[in-house]
Amino acid sequence: MKIEKDTAVTLRYKISDSLGKILEQSDEPMAYLHGGYGNTFAKIEEALEGQEAGYRTTLELQPQDAYGLRDESLLQTIPKAEFPPGVKVGGQLRCQGEDGQSHVFIVLKVKGDKVLLDGNHPFAGKTLRFNVTVTDVRPATEEEVTHGHVHGAHGHHH
Ligand code: ZN
Repeated sequence: MKIEKDTAVTLRYKISDSLGKILEQSDEPMAYLHGGYGNTFAKIEEALEGQEAGYRTTLELQPQDAYGLRDESLLQTIPKAEFPPGVKVGGQLRCQGEDGQSHVFIVLKVKGDKVLLDGNHPFAGKTLRFNVTVTDVRPATEEEVTHGHVHGAHGHHH
């Protein structure tokens, strides 16, 4: 069947940067609910619309169509004393940003008694290449459409 609104699409993907260096690849297929539910990037849905299982494509997405531009206000410095023990440079930390939202921060460096954190997604500001292979397309269930995501082996678990 063809990919259209309210179909559950299973795919494998590889993400590389604009130079072709692989940044992430799916070990397991992932499933998403097609039709503007925000499960995946709009440009990916656009490219897959009307395609079937077996379809394979490579898309180049600008930062604003993928993980967004870098936001320098998400660079934060906190006193080392407030820093939870056991977190290292390169590690991640969930805490509240200046906008009051919870963000995952990456520990950039420790300098004296200060710790520098970056709340940007690691792929923010990057032009990314998505290599996508559609492995399965099926109609979504009514429950999946109500929830706005796909259930089952490669979907959302409750
Ligand atoms: Zn659900």
